[in-house]
Amino acid sequence: MQDDLGLLRAASERAIRYVAGIDERSVVPSHDQLMALAQLDESLPEDGLDAAETLRILDEIVGPTTLATTGPNYFGFVNGATYPVALGASFLVNAWDQNAALPVMSPAAAKIHDVARDWLIELLGFPAQTDVAFVTGATVANASCLAAARDALLANEGWEAPRHGLFGAPEVNVVIGGQAHSTLRKSLGMVGLGSDRVTIVPADDQGRMRADLLPGVLADLDGPVLVCAQAGEVNTGAFDPFVEIAAAMSEVPNAWLHVDGAFGLWALADPSRAGLVQGLSLADSWAADGHKWLNVTYDCGMAFVARPGALRRSFASIAGYLPPESGFEAMHHTPQSSQRARQIEVWSVLRTQGRVGMAELVQRNSDCAVTIAETLSTAPGFEVLNEVVLNQVLVRFGNGSTTEALIEEVQRDGRIWCGPTQWSGETAMRISVSSWKTTIEDAEAAAAVIVECAGRVPAA
Ligand SMILES: *Cc1c(COP(=O)(O)O)cnc(C)c1O
Repeated sequence: MQDDLGLLRAASERAIRYVAGIDERSVVPSHDQLMALAQLDESLPEDGLDAAETLRILDEIVGPTTLATTGPNYFGFVNGATYPVALGASFLVNAWDQNAALPVMSPAAAKIHDVARDWLIELLGFPAQTDVAFVTGATVANASCLAAARDALLANEGWEAPRHGLFGAPEVNVVIGGQAHSTLRKSLGMVGLGSDRVTIVPADDQGRMRADLLPGVLADLDGPVLVCAQAGEVNTGAFDPFVEIAAAMSEVPNAWLHVDGAFGLWALADPSRAGLVQGLSLADSWAADGHKWLNVTYDCGMAFVARPGALRRSFASIAGYLPPESGFEAMHHTPQSSQRARQIEVWSVLRTQGRVGMAELVQRNSDCAVTIAETLSTAPGFEVLNEVVLNQVLVRFGNGSTTEALIEEVQRDGRIWCGPTQWSGETAMRISVSSWKTTIEDAEAAAAVIVECAGRVPAA
């Protein structure tokens, strides 16, 4: 036992040292650090090896190769950082190792699920009966909502999809925007609706669904309709016009509006963004990430479904040894059966930030995005391609290939990290401010690094 505790103390000290050093590190690992990973190419040990040595390898060999995504200077992929309280809660959650599948397995997880659900719904302004399912991320949250939508729409047509499947079922029409996230298509494929079996409503120059075209699209469709809209386009941060979308859908008798709000859904927490989120709460379901902008650890996403019983219809499983229903049973509302108590980190962040802190997070990161965009828009050769409405900045330096050269130089420099995307058929650089640690000073410094790196690449 003493050895076990010593092992854990050493591990937590290593973890804390990592956290303490994060702001000073290069965001990217060095070539030599990456090469050292070859030390992991051992054969499977015949007899077990030392536990303390195993943790030492993790800390001293693997740790240095991590991207410093938990610091203030990582602007790639909308990858969030981790609040200290979330990391601390994860220490405890892992020590407890509760199975959050059923209240009988973990009354603690069940209680915190209920509290977190109530707080989230209040914070986001969703209908009181909205169910929340904690899953691994927005891809699975989207898939969960889409499965619930599919089954509800088909139930209205007299077809029980969870039992009978989709072969021979009435057709469900799926409508998405021209800039729907690639993983939304993946989620549609997962739930049998088909990634390509969709009607695409073109997007405008910010990536918003052209809602003016939606009535015409809907008029041509027969039968149930699932519309997938978006809160937070992954390049521009743009929001679809939900009021117009909901209005167009009100003519369809059997329809469901789903919103992919992986990071953008948190804009609902910021009262100053009321214009941006208008009509967002009119949807039937929403997907959000915890591990992006809420700054909890991987892997955490949330599926919100406003229609009572819909998640349960899709995900209930029946077995003789399962107890009769008592409270919210996660395994009957999510694709998982056994599951990690992801809600505990979410609860810990909401409790520590409060309503004001959540609004400030959205506001500050978005202000940082504006700061970066302002600096770059006045720097020679740069063009900011988006209206900065949230935490995303999309820029081009010269043309597509000089932008690629700039991105390579920024990543080689290592003080910050930004990645490429495709926009209007050419490469652009995407800067996503999603870390709670990033201050306006960090944003100013990051913009200066980008301008400095631009000075080192051949001009367009
Ligand atoms: C990141 C993202 C997703 C996928 O989220 P994961 O957590 O990676 O599964 C889906 N939609 C949008 C808009 C995103 O930004």
